[in-house]
Amino acid sequence: AGSGKFFVGGNWKCNGTKESIAKLVSDLNNAKLEDDVDVVVAPPFVYIEQVKSSLTSRIEISAQNSWVSKGGAFTGEISVEQLKDIGCKWVILGHSERRHVIGEDDQFIGKKAAYALSEGLGVIACIGELLEEREAGKTFDVCFQQLKAYADAVPSWDSIVIAYEPVWAIGTGKVATPEQAQEVHAAIRDWLKKNVSSEVASKTRIIYGGSVNGSNCAELAKKEDIDGFLVGGASLKGPEFGTIVNSVT
Ligand code: PEP
Repeated sequence: AGSGKFFVGGNWKCNGTKESIAKLVSDLNNAKLEDDVDVVVAPPFVYIEQVKSSLTSRIEISAQNSWVSKGGAFTGEISVEQLKDIGCKWVILGHSERRHVIGEDDQFIGKKAAYALSEGLGVIACIGELLEEREAGKTFDVCFQQLKAYADAVPSWDSIVIAYEPVWAIGTGKVATPEQAQEVHAAIRDWLKKNVSSEVASKTRIIYGGSVNGSNCAELAKKEDIDGFLVGGASLKGPEFGTIVNSVT
């Protein structure tokens, strides 16, 4: 971990029922979480209200997506204004499932990030390469191109956390080694230094996501450019998520 405050997000994706979420919230409320860590969970939209009214205020709430501009005639979408209205502080954008399953592109994601930031939401800005891109030696090219799309669109980096999530590691049980993750995190920081500013490079938290669990988090957290985690599967288990939050100590 670096010098910034450790940041751990739980991405619940399209999982859960009222009942399972009540149990997860209760486990999170009972977990002993280190003070010096920012902790955020991202429930499915339809359960945000339930979570907001029952979860400890120690943990902030994120959405998993938001519409690209002000709400209106956009059937099926959820606006940034609505997210703020129900108490969300963050939104996850550019997740690999939205890029590769839904088909969102770099420019659309950049615009979403800019709009969410302009309205005061924090953005967990995801990037990451596919397996074939890694195998073709294109990891840095892909990550830098995705980063550039954010950089070209956003007015400021103050409320952005970058999540490096190699697609081959998401939901596969195949975690990046601490060395593989550190190598890309350091390259991202260097890119920010050269293309944005030294200040943004040193202040922006770069978190890792991809099959993080209670057993592999401590080794990853030791790496100097890994400033936290974005956790999918293991965030559905309250006690294990607590272990990941506390992995920095
Ligand atoms: C994610 O969806 O952001 C993620 C990292 O998932 P998992 O931890 O399940 O690989």
